[in-house]
Amino acid sequence: MSIFDNSKKGRKGVKLPMIDVDTKIEFSNKLLRENKAKLPELSELDVVRHFTRLSNKNFSIDKNFYPLGSCTMKYNPKIEEKVASLESFNAVHPHLILNDLSEDIQGSLEIISKSEELFCEMTGMDAFTLTPQAGAHGEMTGIMLIHAYHQNKGNKKRYVIVPDSSHGTNPATASMVGYEVITIKSDKSGDMNINEFKEKMSDEVAAVMLTVPNTLGIFNPKIKEICDIAHSHDALMYYDGANLNAILGVVRPGDIGFDVTHLNLHKTFATPHGGGGPGSGPVGVKEFLKPFLPNLQVEKKDGEYGFKKVSEQSIGRISPFFGNYMVTLRALVYILILGKEGLLNVSKKAVLNANYIRVKLKEYYDMPYDMPCMHECVLSAASLLKEHKVRALDIAKYLLDFGLHAPTVYFPLIVKEAIMIEPTETENKEDIDYFCKKMIDAVTLAKQNPTVFHDLPKTLPVSRPDETKAARELDICQC
Ligand SMILES: *Cc1c(COP(=O)(O)O)cnc(C)c1O
Repeated sequence: MSIFDNSKKGRKGVKLPMIDVDTKIEFSNKLLRENKAKLPELSELDVVRHFTRLSNKNFSIDKNFYPLGSCTMKYNPKIEEKVASLESFNAVHPHLILNDLSEDIQGSLEIISKSEELFCEMTGMDAFTLTPQAGAHGEMTGIMLIHAYHQNKGNKKRYVIVPDSSHGTNPATASMVGYEVITIKSDKSGDMNINEFKEKMSDEVAAVMLTVPNTLGIFNPKIKEICDIAHSHDALMYYDGANLNAILGVVRPGDIGFDVTHLNLHKTFATPHGGGGPGSGPVGVKEFLKPFLPNLQVEKKDGEYGFKKVSEQSIGRISPFFGNYMVTLRALVYILILGKEGLLNVSKKAVLNANYIRVKLKEYYDMPYDMPCMHECVLSAASLLKEHKVRALDIAKYLLDFGLHAPTVYFPLIVKEAIMIEPTETENKEDIDYFCKKMIDAVTLAKQNPTVFHDLPKTLPVSRPDETKAARELDICQC
């Protein structure tokens, strides 16, 4: 129901203070609306109930198991929110940065500097920029840095190599920066086909973008060899850090040959995200790429934090201010609270939980890559579709009625009827068991009565929207 439906003329929830500015100021016509804005008129209680009802309709990590593969929907500790809500952090005006009033924001600059230092330590990189505002934005920044490097050296480069299991943002980024994309097929074990890679590799390749472990949850054992081959052609290695939570504290991208990496702070370091944001995608580089880093860098000089004068080779500013500074702050709190041992535990448990699910479900679903996985596992409903006309989408919808968020379906694109599950380390055994039970129940139901799937879910406000129409003609008042 729309909030306008409850509106009653004259009903009020707030009392606005007396106007204390001159209301007779003449505005140019452009700024004036001809008609008064139509606003709902409601009491405070109406508004509270409206938004509470809406929030209850929402699936969220605070209410539901959320195994959305690749997106890492783990629990976001409340202490992060507490720190982020402190006035000393959230009342800092961004223009203090622009106007170079660094003496007034020493604490905020220390947060940035400390975060950079820890990200370097965790990834084996030499410097970080915190300004990119999401993983995809980080990718673009990273490929722009690589582009600047090649231009500076006079290298003639045309291509970026990605495997066919890569996230769509990888090829999209490469082409936005002006490169042509070469896609390499995956082999039987889910890794980028090394022979095809060797064939396609040439001096015209600017970069190879890899996610390790990849979106199938598989760690490529030939990663070092791939990095060496790329480097022998002066192609740089780009590490898509979306899956860093699988190797945190175990392997560092910088140690195995990567030159540039982005982190998805909102995924790996548990800051609330979903519905498109907010995110943060800091980018780390090796020493030789430092001169190209974007504008706005912090440095410590004589015990004081200040802004570093960037080199002339810098790619310039890629976002206003310091990106999503509050996401950095939350990530820093998460890192400091867990410490080294805690972070290592994150990756160990994330991997353990994914493998537990994989083994529990392997006799019920197709396993396109039947081997130990990292932090996520990919199943397939291809046989269910063939034998019972029940698709991955039907399984996803079935789970919703049991308070379980659907796993990622139909990604990675190379797996037919893919169901990609990432339980994360924050779930307990009972909840994981409940999820597995429902996944198994779904298979039993598919065999007995496959047609019931067609109008599931039954308990949610919206059942089966026409997804194309919903995307093209979004009308959020319908629910
Ligand atoms: C999420 C994700 C991205 C994009 O990150 P955003 O922060 O959503 O922009 C890129 N690559 C992989 C593998 C991802 O899972």
